[in-house]
Amino acid sequence: MRAVVFDAIEGQPEVREVPEPSAPPGGVVVRVMATGMCRSDWHAWAGHDEITLPHVPGHELAGVVASLGAGVQRWAVGDRVTVPFVCGCGRCDWCRTGQAQVCPDQQQPGFTHWGSFAEYVPLHAADTNLVAIPDPVGFEAAAGLGCRFATAYRALAGRAKVTEGEWVTVIGAGGVGLSSVMIARALGGRVIAVDRNPAALAVAAALGAEHTVLTTTVPDVPAAVADLAGGGSHVTVDAVGSAQTCADAILSLRRRGRHVQVGLLPPVDGHPRVPMARVIGWEIDVLGSHGMAAVDYPEMMALIAAGRLEPQRLIERTIGLSAAAELLPVFDRATVAGMTMIDPRLV
Ligand SMILES: [Zn+2]
Ligand SMILES: [Zn+2]
Repeated sequence: MRAVVFDAIEGQPEVREVPEPSAPPGGVVVRVMATGMCRSDWHAWAGHDEITLPHVPGHELAGVVASLGAGVQRWAVGDRVTVPFVCGCGRCDWCRTGQAQVCPDQQQPGFTHWGSFAEYVPLHAADTNLVAIPDPVGFEAAAGLGCRFATAYRALAGRAKVTEGEWVTVIGAGGVGLSSVMIARALGGRVIAVDRNPAALAVAAALGAEHTVLTTTVPDVPAAVADLAGGGSHVTVDAVGSAQTCADAILSLRRRGRHVQVGLLPPVDGHPRVPMARVIGWEIDVLGSHGMAAVDYPEMMALIAAGRLEPQRLIERTIGLSAAAELLPVFDRATVAGMTMIDPRLV
């Protein structure tokens, strides 16, 4: 099969013929129909995750079950499926109680094993981790769910528990940020989007952000949010992951506000400075969010099938494997307004 492969950390990825995977016991092989590129793929390429070389990235995928390993009960060849980027083991206490997103024995395609920038990808513990794609939902929309959209959904609905009329400030208008804008609106929130890219803010406004803050002209984000939201936001999301964006988000909250950290703060940048004095003095809740377990997908999938959430609107472009290999090394600097989707059937 064809796959995007790199042989060294920060080495140039290339499209290459590699052996097709076989289904692990309890797992499946999925023929990839769509797979998203995300900053986490760049982090793995840049050496911020423990990976084995050579490596195939890719963790946001949708496709068709191509073969079954021994013992799979719930799935058949030909089923249309997607998967959370955190795949639980299916056996531990967390998996058995519906919290596979924090499974201590988790697998992540594109990190713990070869991922979906390829024609086929192996997935573990299929009965725990696969999610059926309803007929009205396309492969590209479903591929967009596995990491950023589901993470944003869990961050706002499951962790921050956004309610009608609350101000939600989203810092970073990339894939997870724009997903957050759309989901916060669907939950009844009033959204302020913050970014350094005017094109990304225009997309955020089109998706329902009531206000936008361009950081290149308005550097004091907390002051701007305090003005717009009448004393600060009820909820903030740092969808970027830097000391600056994390601090801006926490300092943009009103008293007793809730902050959700979604953007990764890579250890290579040193331990991030977090304004803990404000967290204590104003009784701020600081929440983490790490994907979403397959058992929690049906509620979100129903909103998508009903047209109340439209993840396909976040897709900016679809490229083939060769273009993906070119793009990966510069993806941290790419100013894309929305998601980049890969179709492995394209050259
Ligand atoms: Zn587990
Ligand atoms: Zn991702």
